[in-house]
Amino acid sequence: MLSSLHHLPGTTNLKSHFPSITHLRHSLTFPKPKPKPKTLTKSLLQWNRKPQLSGETPRVVVVTSGKGGVGKTTTTANIGLSLARLGFSVVAIDADVGLRNLDLLLGLENRVNYTVVEILNGECRLDQALVRDKRWSNFELLCISKPRSKLPIGFGGKALTWLVEALKARGDKTGGTGTNGSSSNGSGCPDFILIDCPAGIDAGFITAITPANEAVLITTPDITALRDADRVTGLLECDGIRDIKMIVNRVRTDMIKGEDMMSVLDVQEMLGLPLLGAIPEDSEVIRSTNRGYPLVLNKPPTLAGLAFEQAAWRLVEQDSMQAVMVEEEPKRGFFSFFGG
Ligand code: ADP
Ligand code: MG
Repeated sequence: MLSSLHHLPGTTNLKSHFPSITHLRHSLTFPKPKPKPKTLTKSLLQWNRKPQLSGETPRVVVVTSGKGGVGKTTTTANIGLSLARLGFSVVAIDADVGLRNLDLLLGLENRVNYTVVEILNGECRLDQALVRDKRWSNFELLCISKPRSKLPIGFGGKALTWLVEALKARGDKTGGTGTNGSSSNGSGCPDFILIDCPAGIDAGFITAITPANEAVLITTPDITALRDADRVTGLLECDGIRDIKMIVNRVRTDMIKGEDMMSVLDVQEMLGLPLLGAIPEDSEVIRSTNRGYPLVLNKPPTLAGLAFEQAAWRLVEQDSMQAVMVEEEPKRGFFSFFGG
């Protein structure tokens, strides 16, 4: 688009008028978030033990939704880093090829030198394309392609499955297998491979779900997202993925009380899926996206951050805890329980 604009009179150096995302990020000022009441954070962070990993590793989990903009990438980043904080090794794959942005949410965009395209072209090794997070070295990001670069013809589910197999095989080479034996910097076979799925149900979706054994379905409590989520559930089941859990994102208790929004229980009833978590609408999510600093790393933790952490626990232990709606309700205490 920029090159076509260059031909217009008086538009000689348009590029310089478009600041880079990193530049924009630095030009924003972020006042420190107001500390939340201590009782709120203490009550939820009392799990001072490490959750027990259940199921075969690596757990290959696709984060999907059908509808766009409901929080897949936000969930992948926050659950991924929560898992890493809990001591599990995680590789997050950004399979949203056309509109990649997981790197931005993680603040890793300047460190992506190689992608899967270069691996497939024989220009780099797998470990060169894995971007290790400096905050949590057992978290690594893998992008499929660079923005605006073309995917090799025929890239699809088979290629992604080959990559997942290559990640598993890392354990054989380094002698490690995830937390059950990998080095603490995550260079062995990971415990979790999270795949951030694109919106829609076309080729990109099929590619992203192919190597997965389980799915986390993200929905918001509105009719359009629910219809898409229901359709996606059917497609996942057709593909043999039976382990599907859902996260209800952007929940507003004030609207639920005013009967302007479906409750989490309503959503659960409609989709008939086990609940992994309920994430409240939280302006800190947008702030953290713009900073490239996932909100589960915030100190003190925010409401949505706590809810993501809780969802990560439930993912590890496969339903060993009750889902808790994290909400601020200063007069009557802080939590309302449901589900489970
Ligand atoms: P997707 O990957 O499904 O397209 P994103 O994770 O990119 O969706 O989220 C879309 C937008 O919604 C982002 O701007 C993000 O900051 C915002 N968002 C996601 N979850 C929440 C939340 N719980 N509260 C407030 N904003 C949210
Ligand atoms: Mg996304």
